[in-house]
Amino acid sequence: MKKQCVVIGLGRFGTSVCLELSRLGHDLLVIDHKEERVNAMREYAAHGATANATDENALRSLGVRNFEQAVVAIGDDIHASVLCTLLLKEIGVERVWVKARDPQHRRILERIGADRVIQPEYDMGIRIAQNLDSEKIIDYIEISEDYSIVELVATKKVDNRTLSQLNVRAKYHCMILAIKRGQEVNLAPKPEDKVQKNDMLVVMGHRKDLKRFEDRGL
Ligand code: ATP
Ligand code: ATP
Ligand code: CA
Repeated sequence: MKKQCVVIGLGRFGTSVCLELSRLGHDLLVIDHKEERVNAMREYAAHGATANATDENALRSLGVRNFEQAVVAIGDDIHASVLCTLLLKEIGVERVWVKARDPQHRRILERIGADRVIQPEYDMGIRIAQNLDSEKIIDYIEISEDYSIVELVATKKVDNRTLSQLNVRAKYHCMILAIKRGQEVNLAPKPEDKVQKNDMLVVMGHRKDLKRFEDRGL
């Protein structure tokens, strides 16, 4: 489904968000106070405006309230980032995701109602460390402090075994949400479905259980 999204701040992060949203076919409004940055996105965003993101009237007249989601990608100017976030929430944008530069910035954003705070260097650092820790872990999503979803590569150990034979839920308290084989995705696999070596298993569970499954089950 085509989504309407506002991206404010066209630095490296904001630009990357825009290019990907555009590639995925979403409808974009981009805002930056530097005209050349807005122009550079002309090809990718249906709407662009050179404006100060802390100017309430400007935001209102650009019709940001008609957008269900916004990304605030102003990192260095914390004052601007915070004020813009506050305005977007006051104007009534349902989902506001904001880039933070440090933990203090994150705390303020969470307090004023940011729906998600991203700290790219910090978040990516965790992800990379997870990848380094285990060659079997391909990707990683944190659900809460304790629970996450990881992608694990199936090894020879589980080759050609069915899910019920593996009995992952009982043995490791983990759930296999999907089995990916090349481009093919088996979503919500059945007990009789088989795993093959090099399949990508999307697994949800407690951190400790996932670690156990990864160490002993695979
Ligand atoms: P990067 O993603 O490149 O690391 P950053 O997080 O360091 O960026 P900045 O460089 O501070 O963030 O800002 C990103 C963009 O936001 C820049 O293009 C800048 O012109 C724009 N910007 C900063 N403040 C405002 C503002 N008040 N109104 C509109 N745009 C702004
Ligand atoms: P961040 O992840 O915070 O955005 P960055 O990508 O901006 O970091 P820098 O701040 O340039 O990178 O450097 C990161 C770290 O690398 C710093 O702690 C710095 O002291 C160290 N560093 C930079 N150059 C060298 C070097 N030539 N030898 C050893 N350490 C270095
Ligand atoms: Ca920067």
